[in-house]
Amino acid sequence: MRITVLAGGVGGARFLVGLRSAYPNDEITVIGNTADDIWLQGLKVCPDLDTVMYTLGGGIDTDRGWGRRDETYTVLDELGAYGFEPLWFTLGDRDLATHLIRTQLLSAGYPLDEVTAALCKRWDPGVTLLPMTNDRVETHVVVDTDAGPAAMHFQQWWVQHRAALPAHRFTFVGIDAATPASGVLDAIWQSDVIVLPPSNPVVSIGPILAVPGIREAVLDTPAPVVGVSGIVGGRPVKGMADVCLAAIGVAADAASVAAHYGARGDGGILDGWVYESGDPEPTSVRASLATTTLMHDEAAAAELARVTVGLVT
Ligand code: GDP
Ligand code: CA
Repeated sequence: MRITVLAGGVGGARFLVGLRSAYPNDEITVIGNTADDIWLQGLKVCPDLDTVMYTLGGGIDTDRGWGRRDETYTVLDELGAYGFEPLWFTLGDRDLATHLIRTQLLSAGYPLDEVTAALCKRWDPGVTLLPMTNDRVETHVVVDTDAGPAAMHFQQWWVQHRAALPAHRFTFVGIDAATPASGVLDAIWQSDVIVLPPSNPVVSIGPILAVPGIREAVLDTPAPVVGVSGIVGGRPVKGMADVCLAAIGVAADAASVAAHYGARGDGGILDGWVYESGDPEPTSVRASLATTTLMHDEAAAAELARVTVGLVT
């Protein structure tokens, strides 16, 4: 079976660990969000691609869910000693090697999909990891500041301000001119099932679907599309997805997130929806399943992956 997953960072990666364990002999392609990408200290950082790569490759800091295990921060401390801003984004020493290589290869002219494949050779993630696009796309947030409304990079809002500045809207800068990276549309068209893991629907899955051509392919592909709610009991399991949903006028509950993606036949993309038992049932999605969606460990993630794919195949 060919399984294609549209993934953000931590929630996507944890689901993928389960999926790979539940379907060890199947072909898994991951289309990763790159709208969280940011240039820092002259380096191209791709937080969601790296979270997926490190998690599946066994290099992740499992407590935090992002960054390298056994990390040190000598370079960041030295940048701080120079007062060389920005210092709010954690760049660990081990992690920096990834960004140095990525930036060098990009500067040499290689596209991001090839660079990602090259980095994945070390980590052997057991999936094909594709960036959604090779083009520069960045999520920016329009927020209220003391000086009035202002736009800032999503990472600055999320990491430095902990999403505490009221957000009015998100824009995916560069998205209109972006094209899907090579292999992305083929993966969608040739897939037997498309999975939306419990990644952030607004700033992780949202930009992937907004790359011109991707939503259309997901709508038109013969493969069924199944999603998992990352909102459990009216709250994100981790992070601040509720704040992102509020900014686009979507209530933070599982049924509203399903309605945001929309049901196939109603102009939306979902054939199936998996959500936490006790949470509100989605309306109009053809197949839905209430179950336990908390991925405490690999076994729980594998069981969630099994019932999710099984719901529509
Ligand atoms: P990010 O890019 O690192 O923010 O990660 P994602 O966008 O891939 O995933 C973030 C979402 O995953 C959050 O909204 C969480 O609620 C959700 N999430 C994380 N762990 C779990 C879990 O164990 N179960 C469920 N259902 N959702 C989870
Ligand atoms: Ca992310």
